[in-house]
Amino acid sequence: MATQMPWAILLCKYQDDGNDPNLTTIADLYIQYPGAFDNPAAAGDNRTILELYNELFTTAGTGTYNAVAYWDVMSHSNIDVSGSRVFPCTLNMTSAEAASLYQTDLQNDPVNGGFQYQTALFQKAKAALLQQYSIDWKSFYGVAVSFQSPDQGSQGGWYDGGPGVFMDARYVRCNGMMRWGHEMGHGFGLDHSRTNGEPGGPEGPNNPDYTDPWDVMSAEVTSWFPDPNYSKTGPGLNAWNMRSRQWLDETRIFKVPVMNNFSETIDLVPLHRKDLSGYLGADLPGVGTDSHYLVEFRVKENWDSGIPAATVMIHRFEGTIGQFLGTHSYIMKGTNGQKSLGDGDVFEVGTGIYAKIEVLSIDPGNRTASVRLSYSSPTVKIDFLDLYGGTCRIGFPVEGTKSAFRYELSNTNYPHSYQVTWGVTGATPISGQDLHAESFLINTPDPSVLVTVSLTVLFDNGVSISDSYTFHSILEYEAVWTLFVCKLRHRFRPIPWWEWSPDDMQRIANNLSKEELELIQQRTELLLQNIRRLGELRQR
Ligand SMILES: [Zn+2]
Repeated sequence: MATQMPWAILLCKYQDDGNDPNLTTIADLYIQYPGAFDNPAAAGDNRTILELYNELFTTAGTGTYNAVAYWDVMSHSNIDVSGSRVFPCTLNMTSAEAASLYQTDLQNDPVNGGFQYQTALFQKAKAALLQQYSIDWKSFYGVAVSFQSPDQGSQGGWYDGGPGVFMDARYVRCNGMMRWGHEMGHGFGLDHSRTNGEPGGPEGPNNPDYTDPWDVMSAEVTSWFPDPNYSKTGPGLNAWNMRSRQWLDETRIFKVPVMNNFSETIDLVPLHRKDLSGYLGADLPGVGTDSHYLVEFRVKENWDSGIPAATVMIHRFEGTIGQFLGTHSYIMKGTNGQKSLGDGDVFEVGTGIYAKIEVLSIDPGNRTASVRLSYSSPTVKIDFLDLYGGTCRIGFPVEGTKSAFRYELSNTNYPHSYQVTWGVTGATPISGQDLHAESFLINTPDPSVLVTVSLTVLFDNGVSISDSYTFHSILEYEAVWTLFVCKLRHRFRPIPWWEWSPDDMQRIANNLSKEELELIQQRTELLLQNIRRLGELRQR
């Protein structure tokens, strides 16, 4: 169920503007304001001003690349702006008064370039809406103040207590959803898109904004395409920008679990083609301080008709989901520095924890991209190798014997070779063995000594991981007794002990040496003495 987020489009004119939005055409404006409309096609556009506005912003323009369709697709139908309405409003000021107000604001506050001016006009336009239509702007999600004459600036964001866009008729006719998508995007809380690792962009070496040509939040650098109705259209929103507004259909996103070792190949369908079945994107855990990565597939069609070719892209995000402005998506570059990935291209990141995305194939005709997603965080674990074997195991190193250790490394997706090095404190290694081998043998000391066996794995990229195994050995008689009891249990289960057959007892005892049996006998007597003593203690 989509959230209703309609906009009030306040089609404003000054007192002294004689144009009637119901009668004056775009062609008329083109002649009145020479050079203002930068698309010559506007000269032959016989739509009235109001018709043009209604087409771009309301259901009157269904079938064109308008705002209603754009936000439906870019929100995976999570929001609906079809309730937007255009209100022609006359402000109680002249164009000369407005120009003077603008100059004053520029002098007082050159940094913000007219923001106070725009805010003042928002207040006047909202007052006009209330006075001329008895409508409170708060019954709409956002407000656009759009003069039918060329005015000062084109921005979106937060004005006079609510989401807003300030942008005049030129941008409606000549910049379409390329620009309105961007500024209304600000009104929905989106900020400018960026590129990972690029500190600068078109605004200068210290401004990283506007560097993702596949995302409408990069303004004029984007891959738009010509549109007969509104001149410029597209592109869409990237997946992270959609998620940041909670518009991404998360049920259609493949989620890679956070685990040591993961690799899987999946097919993606285009991000903005919710109508097709399949994954609309994939989510991988981030490496280091990065957010999760979102993988998306885009094809050259519909709102993305202006992009160079079908492509796979990866983004991360900085900021809090739901935050209004101040957050940024970052497009991630592939191993060749490319922002968009084609057949065979690879993205990889991380040294210890490692993520990799490979584009195996792109099929624009069938609208599928096959990608392999890998995630790895190599870990190592030392295991004690119980050489006794069989059903009964002691499970502990035994004094006076050789103890063996091996390791298990979870590195099947980690693309680096490695060397292991064994070490031990509290015991001596069996001499002559290779300390870089798969297993490790030591002479086991008596139980009073704390022994630590350690292993370091050094990968060829410099990453090292390690594990250690610390123990006190057990006495030999404990080992023998443990084995004996274990064998008894296995032999007689599930027969209760009072039904044990003397023949079976004999068979088990036959497996033990004379010395072992003597040890068991001595220790059993000790055990019985202790049990007796416990009984006496209880009677006191
Ligand atoms: Zn912007």
